[in-house]
Formats: sequence, structure tokens, C-alpha cells
Amino acid sequence: MFGKKRPRNTENIEKAIPELSRYATPEERLAVLKAWNRYFFRGWKRWVGVALSGVIVTLIMLPAWTWLSRKGLPPVVVGGICGGIVGGGSVALLQIFYRQEMLRFIRDDMNRKGLPICRECGYDLRSAQDCRCPECGRSLFEAAPGLCSILAQKSGSHLDE
Ligand SMILES: [Zn+2]
Repeated sequence: MFGKKRPRNTENIEKAIPELSRYATPEERLAVLKAWNRYFFRGWKRWVGVALSGVIVTLIMLPAWTWLSRKGLPPVVVGGICGGIVGGGSVALLQIFYRQEMLRFIRDDMNRKGLPICRECGYDLRSAQDCRCPECGRSLFEAAPGLCSILAQKSGSHLDE
């Protein structure tokens, strides 16, 4: 998700982010993930976050590193195991840090493309009756103003937010 080795098919990512399945084509799914990657690595602050994740996982790994070295394993094996865990752990940590922001990014994209979805909780808003999310109660005006005006026309009421 954050690296260059992202698989071409998006099946695994869809399991983690079910909303992606609402895009009509795999190309659209890949496009939004690529857009997120571009957006994610735009600012230098992100790189601080990426580096910090690496440092945190490395610090956690240090005792295991020492322990494995004492087992008499060749350094290249120990390095490989620990490197793999640090790499994988850093990506996992980044996903925890930035998951909510990524979900919002994807949901905003969906709303722009006419797939109404709650920005906060991911609720499918095709059945929404007013300008609030039936699931979490948030106003939808900011995330999906187009949807709100359609709903307002339908019900003949005014937008109150
Ligand atoms: Zn919601």
C-alpha cells in the first residue's frame, strides 16, 4: 500500500478497505490508490512519519536481534529475518497511523465521482433520506454537498447546515 511493490491486483487491499469494491472497475480502484500514494508522499512530514515508524520497530526489534545473534546464526540470516520484520512492521505501523486519513481520502474521491459514502464511517449513503449519515449521524454537507442538495430537492426541505 505504501511501497513500490504494490500488487497489480487490488484484492488484498479491498479486503482491508471494503469501500473500494464500490468502484466500477479495477482501474478506478488502482487510480485512487495511486492518487493516495502521490498525496501521501508529497510533504516532508510524511517522511518523518515513515522514518519514525522504522525507528520504533527497530527499537522493538533490538532485543530479538541480540537474542538471534547469540543463537549462533549467521549474521546474514539474522539480518534478513530482522530486516524483514522491521520492514513489514513499519508498513503495518504506518497503516495504523494513517488508515483513517487514507479512508477519508478514498471516500472523498468516491463522493466526487458520484458514489455517495459517509466520509467518517464509510456508510453507503445511497439510501440516505436527509443530510445526515443514518449510521453515525454526521452532517454530510461538507463531504457530499451535491448529495445534500439532491436530497433537499427530493424532500422539499431546506439545508439546515
Ligand atoms: Zn457515517
